[in-house]
Amino acid sequence: MKILVLNSGSSSVKFQLFEMPEKKVIVKGLAERIGEEKGRFKIGDWEVNKALPSHKEALELLTDYLLNKENQIIKNKEDIVAIGHRVVHGGKSFMQPTLVNVQVKDKIKELFSLAPLHNPANLIGIETAEQIFPKAKQIAIFDTAFHHTIPEVNHKYAIPKKFYDEGIQKYGFHGISHQYVSREAIKKLGKDSSKIITLHLGNGASATAVVDGKSFDTSMGFGPMNGLIMGTRSGDIDQSIIFYLMDKMAYSSEDVQAILNKKSGMMALAGSNDLRDIEQRAEQGEATALMALEMYANAIKKYVGSYVAEMGGLDALVFTAGIGENSDVVRRLVTKDMAFFGISIDLEKNKQAKIYQGDIGNSKTKVWVIPTNEELEIAVQSYELLS
Ligand code: ADP
Repeated sequence: MKILVLNSGSSSVKFQLFEMPEKKVIVKGLAERIGEEKGRFKIGDWEVNKALPSHKEALELLTDYLLNKENQIIKNKEDIVAIGHRVVHGGKSFMQPTLVNVQVKDKIKELFSLAPLHNPANLIGIETAEQIFPKAKQIAIFDTAFHHTIPEVNHKYAIPKKFYDEGIQKYGFHGISHQYVSREAIKKLGKDSSKIITLHLGNGASATAVVDGKSFDTSMGFGPMNGLIMGTRSGDIDQSIIFYLMDKMAYSSEDVQAILNKKSGMMALAGSNDLRDIEQRAEQGEATALMALEMYANAIKKYVGSYVAEMGGLDALVFTAGIGENSDVVRRLVTKDMAFFGISIDLEKNKQAKIYQGDIGNSKTKVWVIPTNEELEIAVQSYELLS
């Protein structure tokens, strides 16, 4: 059965076509700069550079490619049985993979206010796919869903109850990735009862405590700015700063949003959100870059420590996403001086993580690098829903 996975952003769509249940990737690609003058569409080794006025033109190029006789991927559109869509915010309404219908789309729309940068684009992806593949089942997989198991003690904020009743609570994000890598870690551990911390360190970043396969706590909260230091987001700050910026320094709410979302994090600390660049400068001894890396790793350490404490132990610490998978420097700094905690790594294995299949630990607690695969997780969850 062929399942297409779409991850739609406001100006991009990433896609992968899977043969399920074999989990085989048939083809993958992306469309970028949608709505801009110069768009780019890439699939396999075919690339087109032309304006893509909307998501529709991007999906039309995709269907042309799939239907092209030379490529022999599909004979007609109906060969694609289902389309799995990443949807960022499911609020309290969606805790499972969900077959899309009118009510589901209305609900996703209602959640625009909780994820203004993501849910609108996700819905455009769904509606465009409905137009282009009218016979396919459209399935929504929510990034918040994995975290619906976080218990009240960890998902409630200490603010008046009426706000909680309004839906103000911790939702958490990157759930598809945390779910995928924690599942992989549980397979490797080979036991039912487990305590794991997954560190998704990409441009956005979050840490999740996973007990027996279920999310137990996570560092992002009501929105995706909280927790770890990220590429351009501040992570945890004192709320008073927001009031000071607005009341004393006359920044508007939009300004503050932009500062904390786009101008903070590593961008603010080191002038770049590309960790490779910061690492290079740190290697040359640049003090600003060294301090930025230290702060970045320290923020992660604090979450690891608190999650070990609240779970009462740890079987495995998992690094994933662009930085987690590739930066031996960050992995070394995060795990430094944690032997008393039962966490320690082999520095040589850390440098050559791929050769060691990501097994870099040198302690009872496993330390693993596990590449995330959100697209595969979406395909698997879509397939499970259909079966
Ligand atoms: P996104 O959240 O956009 O999907 P990614 O998971 O691709 O982000 O991660 C992007 C981050 O990974 C960037 O900071 C980038 O510099 C970093 N990164 C990618 N490759 C490496 C590498 N080899 N060494 C260090 N950092 C890397």
